[in-house]
Amino acid sequence: MISFEVLTLFPDIFRSFLAESLLAKAAKKGLISVNLVNVRDFTFDRHRTADDRPYGGGPGMVLKAEPVALALESILSGEAPRPLIAHLTPSGRTLDQALVRSLAQEPRIALICGRYEGLDQRVIDRFVDLELSVGDYVLNGGEVPAMAVIEAVARLIPGFLGHPESSRDESHGYGLLEGPLYTRPRVWRGEAVPDILLSGNHAQIAAFRLAESVAKTRRVRPGLLENPGLVDDVARALGEAPQGGKIKAQCPPGPGQGGEARVTPCPRKK
Ligand code: SAM
Repeated sequence: MISFEVLTLFPDIFRSFLAESLLAKAAKKGLISVNLVNVRDFTFDRHRTADDRPYGGGPGMVLKAEPVALALESILSGEAPRPLIAHLTPSGRTLDQALVRSLAQEPRIALICGRYEGLDQRVIDRFVDLELSVGDYVLNGGEVPAMAVIEAVARLIPGFLGHPESSRDESHGYGLLEGPLYTRPRVWRGEAVPDILLSGNHAQIAAFRLAESVAKTRRVRPGLLENPGLVDDVARALGEAPQGGKIKAQCPPGPGQGGEARVTPCPRKK
């Protein structure tokens, strides 16, 4: 069970996101809970003002410290364990699957969604444990990044996915990208599914998928292959002894095929 506390000026953005699909099911099963805290409820002037002009000048507005601090204190005051307090910001540490895995160990996470030009630094200094970015680009607010964090973390909570191995076998599970997927019909607009996937030979299918996965990683994100532990991890994943840097994945036999795939793909069936 993991609890999220989301501090936002726009709680409605989250409602249909949380009411649909696997997240709603997980909440019903008690695997996750998400509490939406409206930062504007912690403003006390007539206009419920949560932002003000930046000291030193410059464009835009800054999210005020006090409403965010009061919102945080409201969730810190109860019996529940102190949450890890994360601030969503494009200047934070970039979220990746390793960080998602470590966040999934937390019992409770508070996510502060910034708006405008960002949040007053003093509240960050006083409360925040981790600054998180979802990538090197700028969005209007921290709500979409917070949804990304909730969904990525929730998928790792035992019981969330129907098949526990699903999250492990996906892109970034072992540090590789997932290869191509196919479903029925077997032939679509003249393009057939690779025969090996219909063979029922699980070892060869696993080897084929691994080779495709390595090929895609090399093509799209070659830097991921530089992780020295990766190859042995993948070998272990296939139930092989670590190969000291080589993946002993066999391509399915066929004309011009066969042999060790290592980090080259099996030729794609045309
Ligand atoms: N002035 C800020 C800067 O240059 O770093 C950007 C502010 S942005 C317009 C408003 C809010 O959106 C931020 O405070 C943050 O909460 C959120 N945000 C935007 N892009 C983000 C990203 N890549 N990752 C996480 N949060 C982001």
